[in-house]
Amino acid sequence: MAEQYLDERGRIFDIQRYSIHDGAGIRTIVFLKGCVLRCKWCCNPESQEYAVQTMLVQGKPKVIGQDVTVREVLETVERDRTYYRRSGGGMTLSGGESLCQPAFCEALLRGAKERGLTTAMESMACAEWRVIERVLPYLDTYLMDIKHTDPAKHERFTGRRNELMLENAKKVAESGLCELIVRVPVVPTFNATEGEIEGIARFAASLKGVKKLHLLPYHRLGQDKYEGLGREYECRHILPPDNAQMERLAAAARRASGLDVQIGG
Ligand code: SF4
Repeated sequence: MAEQYLDERGRIFDIQRYSIHDGAGIRTIVFLKGCVLRCKWCCNPESQEYAVQTMLVQGKPKVIGQDVTVREVLETVERDRTYYRRSGGGMTLSGGESLCQPAFCEALLRGAKERGLTTAMESMACAEWRVIERVLPYLDTYLMDIKHTDPAKHERFTGRRNELMLENAKKVAESGLCELIVRVPVVPTFNATEGEIEGIARFAASLKGVKKLHLLPYHRLGQDKYEGLGREYECRHILPPDNAQMERLAAAARRASGLDVQIGG
């Protein structure tokens, strides 16, 4: 009876083992389907719709989306327990936005914690607080995307204003229940100026307990997926920031916030 939550079903589109990004040590990343935002630069467009889709990959149709139980996901995650123990790794939830499947997300994190694994979640906190509050007790590290401080510009590039997300960032920080790391996708034409990055860095530094800021340079690795889904890639005119530009932005963020700023996740 107590383990009934392991039968909770949810929809994922990938599980990646042996990742050294998105949290400490060697990790297994579970990608949940569904997102409330529609960021123009999104490198996982197949994550956005909750519906199961067919995407052309190298000309061949591939079904994206699979319904699984928490128990099934954890069986895969647990295969690499030895690596987690040696490296301090564990399970990371990503997406999409994991919080779009609240019961599944909570049960996955709870299951991992109860098996002694460390947990992390990549999320932009675009959900009601009562949803976020339920997952925090099972979360070690919240990798929170904060993309901009300006609600109007945020809406223009992602489809949603960001007041709720910024408010949730404050509440997560105040809760003190997990480590909060702020991550910024650095996207030319959207936020890749010193002034905009400094603004985000200052906001991050104002959050209780936040010490780390990750700047994630925009890349085009998702471009082919748009074609595979029959969608237009709106960022084809945007060049990824070069190393010198990223170093300049990182230095500006450090000066403005005093945070430990790193390039990449
Ligand atoms: S929040 Fe992430 S997954 Fe959702 S649309 Fe934006 S980049 Fe894509």
